[in-house]
Amino acid sequence: MGEGPQPVQTLVVQHASSTSIVFTCTKCGLCCKNLDKSMVYAHLDRGDGTCINFDSHSHICKIYSSRPLICRVDDFYEQNLSAPEFIE
Ligand code: SF4
Repeated sequence: MGEGPQPVQTLVVQHASSTSIVFTCTKCGLCCKNLDKSMVYAHLDRGDGTCINFDSHSHICKIYSSRPLICRVDDFYEQNLSAPEFIE
């Protein structure tokens, strides 16, 4: 998949307890316009809380296919939060 506009993404996370979390992106842009709320995104903040890679016109990430791990919710969950100690 290229760097152009991406389809709306639906994310399904399956917990060990068989509980599913379904999240459908509506491209509101709020995830990428509030980076100043967390220090882990500081390197992406263009100075007003909005990411340097956020396209304000399309509300889509300009580097979607190569975005950082902290922006890939499903992969971040698998690598950092899916361990048994993080699941009730
Ligand atoms: S890299 Fe892309 S997904 Fe991550 S905060 Fe920036 S615009 Fe959003």
